[in-house]
Amino acid sequence: MTQPLRIAAIPGDGIGGEVIAAGVDVLQALAELEPGLELRFEHFPWGSDYYLAHGRMMDADGLARLRAFDAILFGSAGDPRVPDHVSLWGLRLAICQGLDQYANVRPTRLLPGIEGPLRGVTAAELDWVIVRENSEGEYAGAGGRVHQGFGHEVGIDVSIMTREGVARILRFAFELARSRPKRQLTVVTKSNAQRHAMVMWDAIHDEVKADYPDVASDRMLVDAMTTRMVLKPASLDVIVASNLHADILSDLAAALSGSLGIAPTANLNPERRFPSMFEPIHGSAFDIMGKGIANPIGTFWSAVMMLEHLGQAGPAGRLMRAIETVTERGEVLTPDLGGEATTAAVTQAVIGALAGANS
Ligand code: ATP
Repeated sequence: MTQPLRIAAIPGDGIGGEVIAAGVDVLQALAELEPGLELRFEHFPWGSDYYLAHGRMMDADGLARLRAFDAILFGSAGDPRVPDHVSLWGLRLAICQGLDQYANVRPTRLLPGIEGPLRGVTAAELDWVIVRENSEGEYAGAGGRVHQGFGHEVGIDVSIMTREGVARILRFAFELARSRPKRQLTVVTKSNAQRHAMVMWDAIHDEVKADYPDVASDRMLVDAMTTRMVLKPASLDVIVASNLHADILSDLAAALSGSLGIAPTANLNPERRFPSMFEPIHGSAFDIMGKGIANPIGTFWSAVMMLEHLGQAGPAGRLMRAIETVTERGEVLTPDLGGEATTAAVTQAVIGALAGANS
């Protein structure tokens, strides 16, 4: 008897409910085909509706309850009726920081059959993983506002970078780069203008890289990095950056891979002291909510990352191949990818392709 893997499903807001329902359907269909895989889901109704009813985005004991799970599958948080900083800090960031998910991992590549906006760029040329520092930096939450509402009001956000926080994310990125064929890492900062903490990043990079002589690493300033991603995509492999910089770069990366609806994320606690969280990169997309046309592929790919993290490489590979079969055929795609299919149709197509995809 295999031990079931316990998954906490948190659909959250907007299209989160639609894509997480699709993700759970696909994972359950996969588990039926894989004798060694047993998944047990528990759903949590947290999010902006919950906030409007209860005055909080998640229960007070929410983090303690999540600790009992093997992984978390998350939809999105954000709703026009709730200030963005309340919905973000009350749920997604509360979980990432409370469970020390300090490594945010965002693979970007052109899936078969999908054409990105970069003319002539092939799948072999655009294959990156962005590693985002996910626990401190510009999103540390330190700061305040004084004299609110008066002309002399002051607002301060303090970016906090610690030696330990920077060193651990750089080590994580070097390890990841070492595991990939190109063995190449680009460290992104803005250490010309931000002359304290970002200069510390560069110094720690110099120290850490001594332990990875088999990985080629280089440095880029974040502004120059945007042009390199667009003009020389094949020159990149693993990219590591601070919380804010990687947040922005990974939206650009998602757009370059064809659609925000495809891109996946893992928020990892690499030491596995706490469960990690997997989610599509996109937000709640209220403009398409309820229309049944949200692309579920970002959630499916996030589920692949979740299975890999849980030691289920076989089933993970099978699901990824099923996704790629559907994109390659190009017959069942949602409107963001130029198709006319619904979320439900893409879900059924991927479930159908699972049978033909071996683990
Ligand atoms: P948030 O503030 O929660 O990040 P947002 O609306 O600013 O939300 P996204 O939700 O990421 O940002 O959406 C940006 C655009 O991409 C929208 O036009 C949305 O419809 C589209 N989009 C996002 N996710 C998907 C998806 N899964 N399928 C199709 N289109 C999507």
